[in-house]
Amino acid sequence: MSVQYTSSSGLEAESIAAKPRRPVMSAMLRGSVCRCPACGKGKLFKGYLTTVHACEACGEAMHHHRADDAPPYFTITIVGHIIVPGMLSVELLYHPELWVHLALWVPLTIFLSLGLLRPVKGALIGLQWALYMHGFDPEAEEDLPEPDPAGRLREE
Ligand SMILES: [Zn+2]
Repeated sequence: MSVQYTSSSGLEAESIAAKPRRPVMSAMLRGSVCRCPACGKGKLFKGYLTTVHACEACGEAMHHHRADDAPPYFTITIVGHIIVPGMLSVELLYHPELWVHLALWVPLTIFLSLGLLRPVKGALIGLQWALYMHGFDPEAEEDLPEPDPAGRLREE
């Protein structure tokens, strides 16, 4: 007895393999310095965390990204791995007063978080672009619409 498996994903796998390879590391590096992951020349952000609609240099559409909660998640992880060992080391070595800890670690946490959030978001957008995620695939049928759960509920 033989069993045949059919899958609709076979065509998708062929189309993914046929696409030109996008370098992940350089795309993430370009994104982390707030530049377009495709060309490295155009700006990626028009505000602190608001991305441009499309790259002004090469025209690559940037509105496809779906970074969502990932940048804060990775920023918290990075900052936590810097602040917590630093705080514990200072406490073990110097036993400073509580106000010294507050004066040192609270501002450092705020500045590190605000400083890292933008480059982390840029790197994640670069990763999504390099992996043809979401609407960054030019052969995709259509971009995902903006999430509107309330509108979807109204239609049903
Ligand atoms: Zn570009």
